[in-house]
Amino acid sequence: MYTIETIRELRSYIKSARQAGKSIGYVATMGYLHEGHASLVQTARAESDVVVVSIFVNPLQFGPNEDYEDYPRDLKKDQQLLTDHGCDVLFAPSVTEMYPRPMATFVDLPQLSDKLCGLTRPTHFRGVATVVCKLLNIVQPDTAYFGQKDGQQVAVIRRMVNDLNLPVRIVSVPIVREADGLAKSSRNIYLTLEERPHAAILSRALKAAADAIVDGERSALVITEMMADAISTEPGVRLDYAEVVETSTLQKAQTIEGNLMLAVAAFIGKARLIDNIPIQVEGTHVELL
Ligand code: AMP
Repeated sequence: MYTIETIRELRSYIKSARQAGKSIGYVATMGYLHEGHASLVQTARAESDVVVVSIFVNPLQFGPNEDYEDYPRDLKKDQQLLTDHGCDVLFAPSVTEMYPRPMATFVDLPQLSDKLCGLTRPTHFRGVATVVCKLLNIVQPDTAYFGQKDGQQVAVIRRMVNDLNLPVRIVSVPIVREADGLAKSSRNIYLTLEERPHAAILSRALKAAADAIVDGERSALVITEMMADAISTEPGVRLDYAEVVETSTLQKAQTIEGNLMLAVAAFIGKARLIDNIPIQVEGTHVELL
């Protein structure tokens, strides 16, 4: 695997791959990689001739009081995981390579960014959409792979790609979980030994809500309250939100019908954790995606 740090070098590599008629699959990450990231790389590997992964902790998507400085980093370990999973090129640019001067251009999707995580992280999705737009322009992949773990991010990126006619296919990859259901995340490292068992309440609350839907519950309010009660009564856990939203618009659902996402977020100690289950409901037919 090559590690490339400059846009110029990456473009030259991509140009040669393109000239050789190769398809390019791309995974954007912030590093400190785990099995969730590996699943994206494996999916890209299975579908593409060349797999490019980026590691870039993007300052633009962190709020002023968030964990940009503390965000965990381990390039050596990440390089090993990527090599093991068949990545061809790691693109690891510096902040000055990506932002040589303050940005004057931003990609903003206000209707999708002011909901769910956007309420506690008001500038986050503008930072995400802007950097992903830049990275897609730099890598120019045929397909880019994103984790369902960040369900709102998937909605934002799909909409940006459609609105701006970016020539890339977006694929979302299912959430990889720990044995007790906790969604794998680089930020799980913030959980103390005492806090860790309580973090499983997010996935348990989602699963109980999904089971209630399978059993016939069709009121979004009932489902929302079920999830909120389960999470807010768990010791040491502070609920951020529990919602049922339409998958692509992220509008709150009134009834349980169509393509929906059950989505929750909570604070546990230093960590803010998110999780979701996408579901498709047509009358009595329910599919957990
Ligand atoms: P991050 O490094 O947190 O920015 O994540 C990079 C990509 O990996 C994003 O598309 C995430 O949604 C995805 N990802 C992170 N954790 C998981 C997980 N547990 N399962 C599936 N995808 C994940």
